[in-house]
Amino acid sequence: AMSLALISSGMALAAAAGETVPDKNGKLANKVALITGAGSGMGREIALLFAKEGAAVVVADIDGISAGKTAETIRNARGQALAVTADVAREQDVSRMVDTTVSTYGRLDILVNNAGIFDMLVPAGEVIDELWDRVIATNLTGPMRVIRKTLPVFEKQNGGVIVNTASIAGYTGARGGGAAYIASKHGVIGLTKNVAFNYKDKNIRCNAVAPGRVETGIRANSEKLAGAQTLHDATVSRWKDIENAVTAGYVTNRRKASPDEIAKAVLFLASDDASFVNGSILTVDGAWTAY
Ligand code: NAD
Repeated sequence: AMSLALISSGMALAAAAGETVPDKNGKLANKVALITGAGSGMGREIALLFAKEGAAVVVADIDGISAGKTAETIRNARGQALAVTADVAREQDVSRMVDTTVSTYGRLDILVNNAGIFDMLVPAGEVIDELWDRVIATNLTGPMRVIRKTLPVFEKQNGGVIVNTASIAGYTGARGGGAAYIASKHGVIGLTKNVAFNYKDKNIRCNAVAPGRVETGIRANSEKLAGAQTLHDATVSRWKDIENAVTAGYVTNRRKASPDEIAKAVLFLASDDASFVNGSILTVDGAWTAY
């Protein structure tokens, strides 16, 4: 399950039927996008929206079945999509994921580093190495490796765009994460700014979206993928605090964001509308950190 496998190619099907992508004049027409963690949650919504805007989408996920479902949904709407099973924490998977994108669609224009796992709010005094390492490997080292593999492709093509999924946990100390998650997302923000600065004159942009609470299955998915430590007495009450912040009125309209509200912000950063937006962190948290 950890190895990369090519599930199916939407391009071949669409081309054979002489079909076109949903919107030929969309904001991402003729672009090729690679989205990690696109089997569920925000990644899935980003993939669907990008395809609607005309992009050919590589749907990558450690869970190949969910990736296949996202790709199938896109192809059923006459979009172009390819599902790839890949663990962003594995160098070989990252390498094959990017190579497969380029060999299938001929180029790569947009990288969205969205895959991530949650750390069950475990504080520094309790975290075990297994959990720490898995969270850092997935949320921080993974995006670095995908970027490292993608930059030469962008340079050869004279440009490209990167959108990383950070979090408000990337610039606050306890909103939405324990030690490992908070550290990983702070790292993502640093990585985003460093890449933006160093490649700014090569027509490469790198930004991050920083969501607040979003309605996804991240807690259950993360327990499955990194369940070394699960919620216990202290962290259960911290989890409730976070849930309560929403209902207690610290967040706009006392609700979580829906994943498509994050996807729209990612689309903006990925599109030419954001041509001078570089090294930015776009918070989409319904004013939670405004408090
Ligand atoms: P999700 O669990 O619904 O989706 C994450 C996807 O990433 C899953 O399909 C999962 O299988 C995949 N994934 C996990 N580890 C992977 C790996 N090693 N390689 C490849 N794929 C992997 O969760 P989500 O809420 O949509 O999370 C998406 C991103 O948003 C994450 O980076 C998360 O940290 C971030 N985020 C989430 C929230 C929230 O409230 N849900 C808030 C801020 C930021």
